[in-house]
Amino acid sequence: MRGSAPLALVPLCAAALLLSGCSSGSDGKKDGSGGTATGTAKAAEQPKEKRSAATPDPAAYRRWGLDKPLAPPPAPPGTRLTEHHKGGTPQIVRRVPTKDKVVFLTFDDGAEKDPAFLRMAKDLKLPFSMFLTDSAARAGRGYGYFDELRALGNGVHNHTLTHPNLRTLSAEAQKREICGQQETLKKRFGKRPELFRPPYGNYNDATLAAAGSCGVKAVVLWEATMQINDMRYAEAGKLRPGDIVLAHFRGPAELKGTTMTQMVANMVRSVQRQGFTVARLEDYV
Ligand SMILES: [Zn+2]
Repeated sequence: MRGSAPLALVPLCAAALLLSGCSSGSDGKKDGSGGTATGTAKAAEQPKEKRSAATPDPAAYRRWGLDKPLAPPPAPPGTRLTEHHKGGTPQIVRRVPTKDKVVFLTFDDGAEKDPAFLRMAKDLKLPFSMFLTDSAARAGRGYGYFDELRALGNGVHNHTLTHPNLRTLSAEAQKREICGQQETLKKRFGKRPELFRPPYGNYNDATLAAAGSCGVKAVVLWEATMQINDMRYAEAGKLRPGDIVLAHFRGPAELKGTTMTQMVANMVRSVQRQGFTVARLEDYV
């Protein structure tokens, strides 16, 4: 199978896999909290406007061990990268072209469903994007957990049905994985996602064709990976404007005892320490 990814991507993916251990998603923890799913229809309609109106509260940040709120992000660009996408091959986005000192947070898979992270997301008014794998997201409490995060203005996007290495699959099987999850997410959230992230960052021409055929406008990769305490960078050893940060829905079992909310607090601290703030990926891509 001929890969369309430049050679340079291969070590990055391998490194990202090693560093992040992008989980298989088959071991979703069941937190047994049986929480309540909130109005999905309302959430589906307009997760967008709420964000900019919301002002983060310093006291809320202190509750999570953070000294100060994230700085408000600058006004988003007038045109999104995919705005004029007319179908066909999706655009590949490793970093977002911008000079603003903003980065974008992304959480993958969806196995861990820590109720404390719901409270944290509300408190911090943190913009982030979720790339959900069906097999991981539906485990335990299921998609209702992500409804709540979506209702806060955070986007839900496609990360396949079962988290395979797509480069090992036939074109037909890739289509089932990608377009199957497009349909699942459409049924659940009322809209086919426009963004897709291939598991492990691995893709080829057939991946792009499959994704394009079911409405994906951009394939979103990353050049920074959140570990437990700090980030790893593909280049430059630090954050750069427009970096997309890969993180996961993970709990203490995967984080050596650290909780999801501690990991996220560490991530926010690292962003602040480097003089950046967090913006919404969907406002730029
Ligand atoms: Zn993944």
